[in-house]
Amino acid sequence: MDRNEKHGSYRELLFDKRWLEKRAKIIKRDNYKCVICGSEEDLVVHHKQYHVNKRGEKFLPWQYDDKYLVTLCKSCHQRGHKLYNIPTFEV
Ligand SMILES: [Zn+2]
Ligand SMILES: [Zn+2]
Repeated sequence: MDRNEKHGSYRELLFDKRWLEKRAKIIKRDNYKCVICGSEEDLVVHHKQYHVNKRGEKFLPWQYDDKYLVTLCKSCHQRGHKLYNIPTFEV
C-alpha cells in the first residue's frame, strides 16, 4: 500500500464504473479463471506494472493497456505481491 495515498482515494477508484468495465473485460479475456492455478473463485485483476506520467502522477487503474492486466485468484494474487515488487515505470 502506498503510504502517500490520500484517504480512500485508490480504493474508491476500484468501484468506479470505468474500472468495473475494464476488470470485467480482462476476466472475460482470461476465461473467468486465475491464469496461474485455474481457480474460478475470488478473482482479482492485477496490474503487472504501475505507470506514472512525467509529473509523477499515477495512472488510473483503467488507463492501462490490457496487456498489463491479468486475472488472478485471491491467493495467487497475495502470493504474487509477497514475492515480487510491482515495477513502476515513467511513461
Ligand atoms: Zn490462482
Ligand atoms: Zn496486484
